[in-house]
Amino acid sequence: SKELGRSCYSLYHPDMKHHANKRMDLEILLRKALDENEFILYYQPKVNLHTGEINGMEALIRWKNKLDQIILPDAFIPIAEETGLINPIGEWVLREACRQCKEWQDLGFGDLTISVNLSPKQFQRQNLVGMIISVLEETGLSPNSLELEVTEGIVMKNPEEAVIVLQELKQLGIKISIDDFGTGFSSLSYLKFFPIDILKIDRSFIANIERDDADAKITSAVISLAHSLKINVVAEGVENGEQYDFLVNRSCDYAQGNFISKPVDPKEVKSLLVYDEAF
Ligand code: C2E
Ligand code: CA
Ligand code: CA
Ligand code: CA
Repeated sequence: SKELGRSCYSLYHPDMKHHANKRMDLEILLRKALDENEFILYYQPKVNLHTGEINGMEALIRWKNKLDQIILPDAFIPIAEETGLINPIGEWVLREACRQCKEWQDLGFGDLTISVNLSPKQFQRQNLVGMIISVLEETGLSPNSLELEVTEGIVMKNPEEAVIVLQELKQLGIKISIDDFGTGFSSLSYLKFFPIDILKIDRSFIANIERDDADAKITSAVISLAHSLKINVVAEGVENGEQYDFLVNRSCDYAQGNFISKPVDPKEVKSLLVYDEAF
């Protein structure tokens, strides 16, 4: 058949072979990285724009390889997703993020919340809710301190199952956040059917907010829409004071981005929080 022909051709195509080998090497390296504890979490603070306080952190994975190079998630998360390795990696991320958040809470930052990214693959796995419950029990973190970030694609791909899982999570007290909001080309109707607590406006809308009238209007409208549905709003990728002020003026609830702090090593988080408390 035509399809078989194509796949045979691709097997012999030198570039494809190279590509497949590279992919397999990376898969093997990722497995080893997991076994040998080479993943680490960085944390990016989220500032509450009503109080000016930092009371939330997003956990962002990095891979620190044998050469001490820090590899960013875009270079390996897609392959982890394709190979299914995202399930054990994602479970490690959740456990480590919850453990770390509980440790910071015990140091005196009781209100701290932690956000963890969930990939679509994780959402498809059996008993995601059970896994999350056992991680919370193991680490002693309250479900109220945990936010799970999912993309529009996750909820739209399998809406019937997604709504059940999200409702179970919500009942536990976990908050659900829609990541990269506005980039998914999906209908807004899911805002009505899904138990969503937070919208994170994608940084592509924030990037030119101080110059681009359309971006400014879209962002303002999303904030109003969310607030009328009792949903909180986080602006991602805030890089300067003009963007920050714009968001404060529009009553946006939270901001995250390099203007506040880039993602940092956990050692640096402690000083950020101490600094914050000293104010
Ligand atoms: P995301 O969830 O949208 O995370 C925000 C990304 O924006 C982070 O990139 C962060 O470093 C970057 N960022 C933050 N502030 C600014 C800013 O002011 N300007 C600019 N230009 N960028 C900013 P990072 O850490 O490289 O992560 C990339 C993506 O990888 C994340 O996008 C998320 O989709 C994924 N990811 C990260 N950690 C995990 C994880 O533990 N599990 C899963 N499934 N995905 C993850
Ligand atoms: Ca995120
Ligand atoms: Ca995002
Ligand atoms: Ca993103």
